[in-house]
Amino acid sequence: MRPKRIGILTSGGDAPGMNAAIRAAVRTAIHYQIRIFGFKHGYNGVIKGDIVELKRNSVANIIQRGGTILGTARSAQFTTDQGMAKAKKTLNRYKIDALIVIGGDGSMRGAYEFAKKTRVKMIGLPGTIDNDLLGSDFTIGFDTAVNSALEAVDKIRDTASSLERLFFIEVMGRYAGFIGLAVGLAGGAEDVLIPETPTDIPGLAKQIKHNIEKGKKSNIVIVSEGDEAGDAFTIAEKIKAILDEDYRVAVLGYIQRGGAPTAIDRILASKLGYAAVNGLKKNMYGCMVGEINKKIVDTPFEKTYSRKKKIDPDIYTIIKILAE
Ligand code: ATP
Repeated sequence: MRPKRIGILTSGGDAPGMNAAIRAAVRTAIHYQIRIFGFKHGYNGVIKGDIVELKRNSVANIIQRGGTILGTARSAQFTTDQGMAKAKKTLNRYKIDALIVIGGDGSMRGAYEFAKKTRVKMIGLPGTIDNDLLGSDFTIGFDTAVNSALEAVDKIRDTASSLERLFFIEVMGRYAGFIGLAVGLAGGAEDVLIPETPTDIPGLAKQIKHNIEKGKKSNIVIVSEGDEAGDAFTIAEKIKAILDEDYRVAVLGYIQRGGAPTAIDRILASKLGYAAVNGLKKNMYGCMVGEINKKIVDTPFEKTYSRKKKIDPDIYTIIKILAE
């Protein structure tokens, strides 16, 4: 049955483009005369009944804004039976027929568990800078995060070349190396350390020594935050213990999460927000809507998080060859 009242929330870490997705979902719902309600602060808002009806104007002037107007959160309570029962009560009270969740793998897992327990119709959108969800080539926020990190890397490169220094730059990505690889390739890094591949400290030291000997002006190593050899400081110290080379570390941190979303993220978010409402209208639920090979596809929730999305090993090969 076509839904009459739907809810929408953003969950997990915030990602640039979440607002564009909210805007698209709200405007599409209104186009079909479906009423749409925003829940504040992720699943917590559903538990607490922190709800606001979203009208056409509620989402005016937000397509270009980073963060999320609904706020986001990680909700420990939602992982409990009690929390879920409260959330279900809220949905009953406001007669919400279906829920759109924008978030990362944890949020999709939450949607799956909640739907299994309560039979609520749930549909997901991939919103995370980490790009670590199966079911979409890219997640909303990834492109902006990569571009923000890249801007910083480009600036650091100026200093690295002027001072002929070795730089370790730590980027986000949690347990996935997608941001690291993209920034490494686009930023012309000497090496990229990611959680998906074993980090060879003596091999890296040898490579850096070789680079310095042949007169490379800048040596930039991108470190993904989840690398098994440690954070950028730890890795830099391990290299120093072998090479005795001066180094600098830059941890980019939260600047990668903020800022205006790129055109790519706004377009993806708009397409997916539109697709989510259309999916619910066609009685499609229990899945995440993403884009694969430029086509909108739906993937059952459990497939989006139960296996690890694979990095493209060719990118690493290209980085290494281009840095020779
Ligand atoms: P990001 O990729 O940006 O970290 P995420 O969606 O993966 O985003 P998480 O903190 O892992 O972020 O998950 C968001 C929320 O989803 C959790 O705080 C919790 O409320 C809910 N969630 C995660 N796993 C479960 C689960 N097994 N059962 C119920 N809810 C869950």
